Amino acid sequence: MADRLPADQVTVRRSNLALVLRHLRDAGPRSRARIATETGLNKGTVSSLVSELVELGLVREGDFQRGGAVGRPAQTVELDGRGIGGIGVEINVDYLTALVLDLTNTVVFEQRVAVGVPALPAAEVLDTVTDLAARAVRECGRLGMVPVGMTLAIPALVDVDAGVVAVAPNLGWRDVPVVAAMVDRLGRPAFPIQVDNDANLAALGEYAMGGVAGTRDLVYLTAETGVGGGVMVGGRLLRGAEGFSGEIGHIPLNPTGDLCGCGRRGCWETMVGLAGLLRRAATDDDPVRDPSLDLEQRLDMLRRRAERGDERTLEALAQVGAALGLGASILVNVFNPLALVLGGYFASLGPYLLGPMMTELRGRVIAPDIGGCRVELSRLGFTAAARGGAHVAFAAVLDDPTVVAVRGGT
Ligand SMILES: [Zn+2]
Repeated sequence: MADRLPADQVTVRRSNLALVLRHLRDAGPRSRARIATETGLNKGTVSSLVSELVELGLVREGDFQRGGAVGRPAQTVELDGRGIGGIGVEINVDYLTALVLDLTNTVVFEQRVAVGVPALPAAEVLDTVTDLAARAVRECGRLGMVPVGMTLAIPALVDVDAGVVAVAPNLGWRDVPVVAAMVDRLGRPAFPIQVDNDANLAALGEYAMGGVAGTRDLVYLTAETGVGGGVMVGGRLLRGAEGFSGEIGHIPLNPTGDLCGCGRRGCWETMVGLAGLLRRAATDDDPVRDPSLDLEQRLDMLRRRAERGDERTLEALAQVGAALGLGASILVNVFNPLALVLGGYFASLGPYLLGPMMTELRGRVIAPDIGGCRVELSRLGFTAAARGGAHVAFAAVLDDPTVVAVRGGT
């Protein structure tokens, strides 16, 4: 029907479809009449738009809801996430993850494999990533979902427009055209593939579905081998002129300190990255420092030692907590966020880091009551970046819901 309309009317219809779909996603189930009032579209238009969204499998009829004290209950419509899948793929220093979200941000598939990425050539890593990504695509097919996009999350400076990893110090990658490589390896799929910095995507994931969802000014901090961050200002990710902002882990806090993975000395990452913590907490031959063991297993070991009151572990966590507060105070002073979210291992060991961190933050942030900033431990754990990636993959559908018909071949 839509393709018989003149071009400008097709454009208007698409943007109205997008408006109704986004409204249902952000505001939740509601009647057609209410959608009309809230979007400013007339009732007849809303009914026809809703019918088209139902046909596309993006919206379904919901429960009956009473509008007020008088009048008949109206049937609501709601998001139907089941028909399309967003795929998030994470390449990190010692693991790879693939994950599929439906449109309601429910995880319908997740798989993680332990891989020592820096020891392998990039091409070999991309082969393994392709296997994992292909599994996610097959799972979409099995669940009757149309994959609408895939986003790769990588701890790197990323040229998002070109789809190229410029520098990934902890992976040992430089100028790797990851999007082109994945498009080839996956046999030119119908959905778009993009790449972004893992902490940026994790920040978007927290904003969309984490414990602080909807907080428009937030700073996300994460640590595994590297320390990364994402800054949201007014609901938008801060990217900088060339897209390379957020390299929070390389704030030089001690210029004569330890050597960092980036080749410089005394970056914040050397103080609060996983290696810095483990060096303080354990001797070389301790299993918590064995990279062939699963990261969460090693963190569990550390947590149990802390629970037992092991002095060396507690001292190491206290030092890292204080160093975390020291660096975080710079970010809170600069950005005045309403929430500071701790992800990665900061979240797993958070209960032991928060005390010394808060002492340092309160002492160093100029604004009273640390500028109203809440410090929260991420509930998304090590999946935040992949979830953010999968969420971002829906953008094309939210901008133009009719792409589902094209990609699904209906
Ligand atoms: Zn550095």
